[in-house]
Amino acid sequence: MSQTHQDWLVLPSWNRLHRVVDMRWVGGEWDIECMGEGRALCGASGEFCVPGFLSRMGLPRCAHCCDRLGIPRGSGNTINAHITEPPLVSISRRTEVWMVSA
Ligand SMILES: [Zn+2]
Repeated sequence: MSQTHQDWLVLPSWNRLHRVVDMRWVGGEWDIECMGEGRALCGASGEFCVPGFLSRMGLPRCAHCCDRLGIPRGSGNTINAHITEPPLVSISRRTEVWMVSA
């Protein structure tokens, strides 16, 4: 189970940040284009993109992803919002959404 590249990413609608937990990356590491097929904690799936710096700071976080993580709803990547996320290992006992082998 690959757990590299975990991050808050956006779907092409670009309206909120989802906590992506399973991702098949395509393209280069530093592209800001859509990066591949993924799934988020909330169950959203599709083609996720890496948001630019301003989006990462300013877009609202997906409420369902926040609830599943057990963190406050709000906006911005948790790193930028100075929120410590619980380890995903503990979350995996509650959801199987990310249990997809690479
Ligand atoms: Zn979500």
